Amino acid sequence: MSMANRLFVVGNAVSDLTLTVERAAHAGESILADSMQRAPGGKGLNQAVAAHRAGAAVVFHASVGDDGEGADIAARLDEERMHALRLVRHALPTDLSVLTVARNGENSIITTAGCTRALDAAGLVAQIADITAADTLLMQGNLSLESSRAVIDHARASGAAVIVNAAPWCWPDASALAACDGVIANEGEICAIAGVDDPELGATRLLVQGPQWVIVTLGARGALIARGDERVRMPAVSVVPVDTSGAGDVFCGVLAALRTPRNEALPFLRAIECAQRAAAITVGRAGTFSAIPSAEEMRQVIRNG
Ligand code: ATP
Repeated sequence: MSMANRLFVVGNAVSDLTLTVERAAHAGESILADSMQRAPGGKGLNQAVAAHRAGAAVVFHASVGDDGEGADIAARLDEERMHALRLVRHALPTDLSVLTVARNGENSIITTAGCTRALDAAGLVAQIADITAADTLLMQGNLSLESSRAVIDHARASGAAVIVNAAPWCWPDASALAACDGVIANEGEICAIAGVDDPELGATRLLVQGPQWVIVTLGARGALIARGDERVRMPAVSVVPVDTSGAGDVFCGVLAALRTPRNEALPFLRAIECAQRAAAITVGRAGTFSAIPSAEEMRQVIRNG
């Protein structure tokens, strides 16, 4: 496979522990779960897998622990046969996401980031030392602002395109987003980033800070695209929702895969259409990792998109 036009994904890989409950627990209350499930997860991992299955030459960077969960994640990712898998093992527990899913569809997620953040900025930059102007970088919000900025600045200095999914949004300011080519955020995130109540106004505020484009995902209402003076709203694919978790990750992974230079021939709005079609498949299925469309489904989505 050619070394050119790779998609570097620098993010987290965690062990997802999903507890299905009748209803969310109140403060101070102990309740029994109906069932539990373990799966690989983390926004970085999910987006890397989605992008790989959508045809990108993915170079995935993440940190896992020196434990059984880390070994399970490594083994599962090996099966994907990405372009390159760069997992750093730390003498720490692998990060964990505890998801509670209530019968009324209400979800809550708590994620640890000790392992993910164990590599400092210099260590992360050393990991992507081989990124070039032919490559694209995709990041999420799980690393610290300082580390993310260092990785983004290095990628930009190397001439690579940079896309950031601003989720989860926990950085103190938007300085890292100003240095990106593209930003993807959901409604709540764009409003928090820009300090406004209206997603379109939020996208406009962020756009003037530097990115070429901003996409706001609006769940069942589709996506809002802001690029220069252009504002486009695209409807979502109509689907009976089963479990929306992972929709945002599949959207970001597929969009980034279709924005790498090898796919630049695909017009921007068509790439967004494909990302929404892939996300809709995810929404129609239970689980997060298990709901990511297969490579064959991705091919169909992109062919017919
Ligand atoms: P999540 O955290 O659940 O993964 P998110 O908040 O990051 O998602 P959303 O805006 O909810 O992101 O969803 C991303 C995209 O997934 C949407 O732009 C849309 O295309 C698709 N999507 C999400 N929910 C639905 C739905 N109920 N029906 C159809 N498409 C959906």
